[in-house]
Amino acid sequence: MNFRKLINYIKNLQTVDKNIVTNLYLLSEKSLKTVILLSSLIALALYPILSNNIALWAMAVVSLSLFRLKESFDFKNNYQKHTLEVWYKRFVINALVTAVLFTALGCVYIYYVAAYYQLFIVAVLVGLASGATTSLSADIRVAIVYNSLIIVPLIATIFILKMPLHYVLAILIIIYFITQVMTLLASYSQEIRIKELEEEKTILHNLFEEAPLGIFSYDKDLNIIDCNKQLNSLFDSNREAIIGLNLNNLPDHRPIKAMKNALLYGQQSYVGPYTSIRGEEYWIESKAFPFRNKVNNTIGGIGLIEDKTKEHNALEELEYLAQHDVLTGLLNRRGFKNDMEKLINDPSHKELFSLLFYMDLNQFKGINDSLGHTIGDEVLLSVSERLLYSLGHECKISRIGGDEFIIVVPYVSHQEDIALNKANIFSEKIQNIFIDPFIIESLHLHVKSSIGIILIEPNYTNIEEIIRHADITMYQAKKSDSKISYYNEDLDRKQKELFDLQHDLAYAIEKSQLDMFFQPIVTIKEDKLFSAEALIRWEHPTKGLLSPIDFIPLAIKAGILSQITWWVLDTVCKHIAQWKKENKWQLEYISINVNAQQLVEKDFPRKFLKNLKENGVETSDIMIEITERSLIDSFDTTQDIINMLRKEGVKCAVDDFGIGYSSLSYLKRLSFNTLKIDREFVKDIEFNPKELLLVSTILDIGRQFNYRIVIEGIEDQKQKELLIGLDEELLYQGFHFSKPLDAETFSERFLKDPNKEV
Ligand code: C2E
Ligand code: MG
Ligand code: MG
Repeated sequence: MNFRKLINYIKNLQTVDKNIVTNLYLLSEKSLKTVILLSSLIALALYPILSNNIALWAMAVVSLSLFRLKESFDFKNNYQKHTLEVWYKRFVINALVTAVLFTALGCVYIYYVAAYYQLFIVAVLVGLASGATTSLSADIRVAIVYNSLIIVPLIATIFILKMPLHYVLAILIIIYFITQVMTLLASYSQEIRIKELEEEKTILHNLFEEAPLGIFSYDKDLNIIDCNKQLNSLFDSNREAIIGLNLNNLPDHRPIKAMKNALLYGQQSYVGPYTSIRGEEYWIESKAFPFRNKVNNTIGGIGLIEDKTKEHNALEELEYLAQHDVLTGLLNRRGFKNDMEKLINDPSHKELFSLLFYMDLNQFKGINDSLGHTIGDEVLLSVSERLLYSLGHECKISRIGGDEFIIVVPYVSHQEDIALNKANIFSEKIQNIFIDPFIIESLHLHVKSSIGIILIEPNYTNIEEIIRHADITMYQAKKSDSKISYYNEDLDRKQKELFDLQHDLAYAIEKSQLDMFFQPIVTIKEDKLFSAEALIRWEHPTKGLLSPIDFIPLAIKAGILSQITWWVLDTVCKHIAQWKKENKWQLEYISINVNAQQLVEKDFPRKFLKNLKENGVETSDIMIEITERSLIDSFDTTQDIINMLRKEGVKCAVDDFGIGYSSLSYLKRLSFNTLKIDREFVKDIEFNPKELLLVSTILDIGRQFNYRIVIEGIEDQKQKELLIGLDEELLYQGFHFSKPLDAETFSERFLKDPNKEV
């Protein structure tokens, strides 16, 4: 310890330190008794020379010493009498008064005695100072002042008296005095160091005990030597049970390897599960490092353990939620992908075929829309339960979207034909879960599924492709009668072609590839031209003339149907205007096809009417045909718009009526002019009397609501005659009269200027 530090320490000594005051009182007790004895002896020795003077001095010293002994007794037994500070001051004053009394001996009485008595007094005073150094050592300040009060005047007297060898004597006393002070300071330094070490030890101990992680030390044989409180509470154990335990004897060996290796290779760590002696499961993060002695030899190790069970569980929970479907608890899309990653990375995938079934419920949208989402959810839950019950143990089941499920059966066979065979068995199992109706809230719901089956070939690693193929196959299955379809490359090619077509369609208007055809609508009795339907065609640069059935669904998917409809309306209006100009216009109207969803587009009626006006076409020259099926989907939202257009004079027809199963209430509420009966009803009319009866019923209903009726798809005379038999007022549209024709042919054949007629 350096000198400055020591001085600082002395400066900072607190008088209120109870330890110092106690030590001062206790240590002085013995020396006070010595002082009483010493002063009595001095008095006896000097009495013959100094008589009563020395007796009085001795009485003063003895009385003061007795008083100080009493003070000491009170300090011990009646401490409350004074404050600590007062106790300290009283001690210091009494001690210094004692010193002054002895100084009187060395500065006053010494002059009156013979030389050998003088030496006796010097010896006594030096001895007293030496004794005081020890007894007052508790407070270095008091000890130094006490000594100085005795020694400094004594040296002065030695010189004044010119005692024999007074120089030598004075130097000896000074050296002695300095040695006393140095010894005191040295013992102080040591005391301070010990105190500091103790403090450090306490801090380290507190750190060890209170650290928020379990700490333990172990020897080279892996016996636990010490551990802290946290380690005990971590594993709900006690010190006694842990200390002495050999790490090799712990039931869970997973973290022990790190502890062993730390002794050989330096710091190691282990993060993972751990089962405690009590059998409880934890998730721990641990570190182990070697513990070395002064010569750098490893004598054991130190282990740090943090309990991360809560954090780990929370993370696992999050991970689970991110990968599972909340409703059914099955894997969700992300979970499915993860699972597929595992499947393709497993060595078994190198040799074995796996199966994937992409399943979709057929009537699910209907259930959701008509019975509500709660029932819909119940159906999904039951489907998932049935799937798990009948297949859960051999495959992974995921729900990747609303009513779409994926079932993966991993590694079924080395051989393709056996794998295919298994696929058949599994698809049958899947379909079997739909045999019994789903009974939900006393409703008996019959649900069926469409299944696309993919054979995942060994070593095939493109998951995105697998999902894409599965998707295509499922849609193919939906269209098929069996509702089951296997993936084949032909299907994929078709899908790609459709994608290209969709891409080309986006430029079809720009490149003037679209064309308008017209099919006449005539009276059934006389084949008299009444009106016409405008039907779109696409002159594809490589594929030739395409029917709307091939590209209207693509236009819907690509979001460009609206653009096409405006083009149709504009083109039709331009033709009407042209025919009017040429004085050929003799039709009641021309009908165009509009998807119900488009009606609700912002500003549809205004834009529609504006277009007619700009082309100089009357509202009554146009009829809008809306298919019954698209009307059902958006009945509520389209009503107002249809009524608005009707008020403006635009005619409206329900197209493909009869196959959308709309209820009679629709017919009552919507004010259409015309019903177009779907071709389906006419197709078999000659061979199936029931169909004829059905058409007759539909005609009755139509007439009841004052609809004009157009029959679609009459292809031969026989069909026409049968229908005339039902109603002579009917209109019809069919190949029997004419196929749809391009505008020029249509105009040439059917539209004539009456003035030019011969
Ligand atoms: P739709 O509105 O019911 O049109 C009648 C369809 O029946 C036309 O087919 C027509 O060629 C066909 N057809 C008429 N008579 C007969 C017949 O005697 N026998 C047979 N086998 N077919 C007959 P197309 O032109 O292929 O149109 C199919 C459907 O595409 C249309 O059915 C209509 O829903 C839709 N469509 C046509 N043009 C457009 C359009 O510009 N916009 C929209 N959104 N859809 C259109
Ligand atoms: Mg139509
Ligand atoms: Mg139709």
